[in-house]
Amino acid sequence: MKLRLHFVVDPMGWLCISIVFGIWLYNTFFIPKLVLLPHYNEGHIPWVTVVCYYISSALCIAALFRASTADPGRLPVDPHIPHSEREHWELCNKCNLMRPKRSHHCSRCGHCVRRMDHHCPWINNCVGEDNHWLFLQLCFYAQVLSLFTLVLDFCQYYYFQPLTGLDQEKFTTRHELALLRVSALMGVVMFGGMTSLFYTQMTGILSDTTTIEKMAQFSNEVYGSKRSWQWALAEVCGTRWKLLWLIPLRSRQPLQASHHFRTHV
Ligand SMILES: [Zn+2]
Ligand SMILES: [Zn+2]
Repeated sequence: MKLRLHFVVDPMGWLCISIVFGIWLYNTFFIPKLVLLPHYNEGHIPWVTVVCYYISSALCIAALFRASTADPGRLPVDPHIPHSEREHWELCNKCNLMRPKRSHHCSRCGHCVRRMDHHCPWINNCVGEDNHWLFLQLCFYAQVLSLFTLVLDFCQYYYFQPLTGLDQEKFTTRHELALLRVSALMGVVMFGGMTSLFYTQMTGILSDTTTIEKMAQFSNEVYGSKRSWQWALAEVCGTRWKLLWLIPLRSRQPLQASHHFRTHV
C-alpha cells in the first residue's frame, strides 16, 4: 500500500481536528478507565466487549488519520488528457489548470479536487473522489464508538453501580460521575450528528450527487443517475469486496478510469 501523506495548512482546521481527536482520546481513555475495565475486573463485562470496544476505537482513529491525510484527488499540474475526453475537461479560472468536469476548486486547500464533495474542517481536508470512502468510514466508526459509549454510560448509571461490591465512595468519585455525564452528553451529540451526516452522505452516493452539487441544485438534470447500492459503494470504495469497504488501511483502486465518460469504454 503506498501511503502518501497530504497535509492542509489551515490553523482553523488544525483546531477543529484537535477537538475531534480530543473527543476520541476521551472515549478511548476515560470510558475504559471509568466503566469498562473496573467492571471487567469485577466480572460484570465479558472480555469480548472490551476487545470490541478497543477495535472500534482503533478503526475510528485509523479512519480519522487516513481521511485527514489522504490525497482527496488533487489534479496534476500537467494532466494527460486523452483526445476523446477533451470535451469533458474544463479550465479552472482560479488555478488556471485543466480539470475534469465535476471537479471543484477548494479555496481552503488552494487547489482543484476531482469530484469534490465538500471541504470538511473537522478532518482538515477536502472530501473528494479519492478519500470519500475514508470519510464514510469515519462517520460509520464514529457512530459505532459513540453508540458503544452511550450504552456503557447507560449501563453504568442503571445497572453496574448497584452490582459493584466495592464502596461507592471509593469506586466512583463525584469527579468521575461528572466525567460520565460529559461523556453521555458527548455521546448523544456525536451519535446524532454522525448518524445524520452518514445518512446524507449515503443518499448523495446512491443518487450520484455531491454535496456541492446538491447545494448548487443543478445536479439532477446533469448527473443524478440511479445506481444499485452495491455498485455505488463499490465505485466510491474502489473495490467490489464488501469486507474491504470497512478497512481503512488499504489503497483505493478506481473501478473506472473516468466514470462518467461512458462513451469511451
Ligand atoms: Zn482550481
Ligand atoms: Zn479543501
